[in-house]
Amino acid sequence: MKKSKILLIYTGGTIGMVKDYKSGALRAFNFNKLLKNIPELAQIDCHIDSVSFENPIDSSNINTTHWIEIAGIIESYYKSHDGFVVLHGSDTMSYSASALSYMLENLEKPVIFTGSQLPIGDLRTDAKENLITSIQIAALQKNGKPVVREVGLYFEYKLYRGNRTTKINAEHFEAFESLNYPPLVESGVHLKVYHEYLWTKKSVKKFTVHKVLDNNVAILKLFPGFNQAILKSVLQTANLKGLVLETYGAGNAPTASWVLAELEIAIKNGLHIVNVTQCSGGSVIMGQYETSEQLQKLQIINGKDITTEAAITKLMYLLGRNITSKTFKTIFETSLRGEMQ
Ligand code: ASP
Repeated sequence: MKKSKILLIYTGGTIGMVKDYKSGALRAFNFNKLLKNIPELAQIDCHIDSVSFENPIDSSNINTTHWIEIAGIIESYYKSHDGFVVLHGSDTMSYSASALSYMLENLEKPVIFTGSQLPIGDLRTDAKENLITSIQIAALQKNGKPVVREVGLYFEYKLYRGNRTTKINAEHFEAFESLNYPPLVESGVHLKVYHEYLWTKKSVKKFTVHKVLDNNVAILKLFPGFNQAILKSVLQTANLKGLVLETYGAGNAPTASWVLAELEIAIKNGLHIVNVTQCSGGSVIMGQYETSEQLQKLQIINGKDITTEAAITKLMYLLGRNITSKTFKTIFETSLRGEMQ
């Protein structure tokens, strides 16, 4: 059997950082040096190539142009390689994995995001295990075909569907959660693949990379006591086209008439508003309570059990695709890449 060819895409993040001894701060460093720190890579039974961002970044600096760059790299190497591992800072990794999941339509190969909490040179680093297992998962084949055919996120022994994840801890090695969808693969003595949860939808359509994203979007998290001026100023932001409204519990918002009136005006003016719960797990159920019934009447988009990360990137993606206002709500409420129920 021929060896899998894996492409490592290094964007930055703690995994490849070194300590600046003067200031004590972590900063990104040269990718080739990073690979030299992991002699174990030579033992993996696959061929590994790598490309790196010219200037590796802390993922807090990620923006839509970086997502387009990652998508472009995958597009260029799509035919020649069997799988992709994206090394990325953990801070915004769930956003990037979600964005890429939409941008890579009809993906038939694995794209695995990973990173680490401690730099690779650190004695107690989690980087080596995360990197090595991500490569092994990207190289998994069955009957000559990749086992994983979607954008995943691997961290601390678990592969998740990327667009279902959230960073939940800034300190623990177990930094990510996927509360509304089970892990796809677990790593113990053996790799346990949960085939029943993998993306298996067959598409006859060609792999397509979408590189237009519209970032005229915002997230507004409700809190008890938020005032009309704040709501108004967000809703009236120039060029704002999409808003993720983080509501309480199962999608509830205050029933004060000024709240509903402001939302109604914004929707009439063409703003797409998505109802997403602030809870890390569970789903919006529009109409379950009186406090969400009104939102339903306003035709606010039901974000169901989508994460905020997957919702905001879905808005950017769909706005970039020039979907008509009439069909926008229906398309948003449809699971495109397994990001919602
Ligand atoms: N600040 C870092 C980043 O997101 C943290 C990490 O890599 O985990 O780039």
